[in-house]
Amino acid sequence: MRSCDVLIVGGGPAGSTAAWQLRRAGVDVLVLDRERFPRLKLCAGWITPEVVRDLDIDLEAYPHRLLTFPRLRVHLGRLHVPVACVQHSIRRFEFDAWLLERSGAPFEQHNVRRIARDGDGFVIDDAFRCRWLIGAGGTRCPVYRTLFRELNPRASELQIVTLEHEIQYDWQDSDCHLWFFAHGLPGYSWYVPKEQGWLNVGVGGIAERLKRGGQDIRQHWAHLTAMLEGRLAPGARYDPSGYSYYLRGRVDVVSRDHAFITGDAAGLATRDLGEGIGPAIRSGLRAAQAIVAGEPYRLEDVTGASVGSIARSMFGRATRASVFSGRRQTPGGGPAHGLRHRDQ
Ligand SMILES: Cc1cc2nc3c(=O)[nH]c(=O)nc-3n(C[C@H](O)[C@H](O)[C@H](O)COP(=O)(O)OP(=O)(O)OC[C@H]3O[C@@H](n4cnc5c(N)ncnc54)[C@H](O)[C@@H]3O)c2cc1C
Repeated sequence: MRSCDVLIVGGGPAGSTAAWQLRRAGVDVLVLDRERFPRLKLCAGWITPEVVRDLDIDLEAYPHRLLTFPRLRVHLGRLHVPVACVQHSIRRFEFDAWLLERSGAPFEQHNVRRIARDGDGFVIDDAFRCRWLIGAGGTRCPVYRTLFRELNPRASELQIVTLEHEIQYDWQDSDCHLWFFAHGLPGYSWYVPKEQGWLNVGVGGIAERLKRGGQDIRQHWAHLTAMLEGRLAPGARYDPSGYSYYLRGRVDVVSRDHAFITGDAAGLATRDLGEGIGPAIRSGLRAAQAIVAGEPYRLEDVTGASVGSIARSMFGRATRASVFSGRRQTPGGGPAHGLRHRDQ
């Protein structure tokens, strides 16, 4: 049986950030993930300046695709508003693998199934023993399921369903576009260009409200792609995939007896826009800090709404733009690494 002080289930942004901080403090940590990295993660890949700061990323040195937007284009019915604020796009396939590698933490590909208590620690699948356990396994995290679900049930009205596809596409419009409530969608759809000829498009909506209105997310996907065909992405071909996760509701118990839940496992994606990368990263930092400093695990500074962050970026635009403007907005033009989304 392999032993470590801290075992992290899940190597996404929450898990790799916790691992990074724990390694920096010299803690004996092991990350388990059922996937081999780089792995596919359905996500628009939009990140905020807070994410860049929390991860201490030097944008100039980031070795993969990263695009900086000086504005978001928000569409609401007939209203079309450019919102001046600095945001970025990355490809999750690259970003997550890079973060995990940068953490310097040992990694094993392993699908966690059984978690049992063992004195003041845990035994995982009779193969791993640890004193501390961090659940960073996303919506279906086994640490959440085994230790937290009953104490912290998820609210079905906060479940969102999504459809998205990331494709190679020679886009010409380098802005990020968001359409709210189009055709009665209880959510929004997006067009997010990535550096060097990649594009992510998708729709997301509250599952219960879709059902109540007799709607299907696929109808909204059809509306979106028809609109893109006529305007922003003519000739693009899609084969979308679906994923579901939870927006932030009440977050009651997130740690108990040397176990923690972080990111989507704790249901931390923002209530307004479903932004989950930032909250995953911040909660990973806080879980590591709780272990290293013996402090309570607190999520008070993990934002529950994206609007505040966008407003901060709008008002701090002049200064941040100068910090982040080094990355060019390049139009499409073919991928550097030539990997297709479906082959990943
Ligand atoms: C379509 C879509 C678009 C999105 N767009 C954005 C966006 O643009 N910006 C944003 O901020 N957020 C976005 N989100 C939300 C964001 O993707 C998540 O909130 C974020 O990935 C959460 O990170 P995490 O580390 O908690 O979980 P994840 O990134 O899901 O990582 C969890 C990891 O745990 C592993 N795992 C799961 N079960 C097990 C197991 N049993 N054993 C071992 N390993 C396991 C998985 O393989 C995975 O690697 C989007 C989500 C969707 C679905």
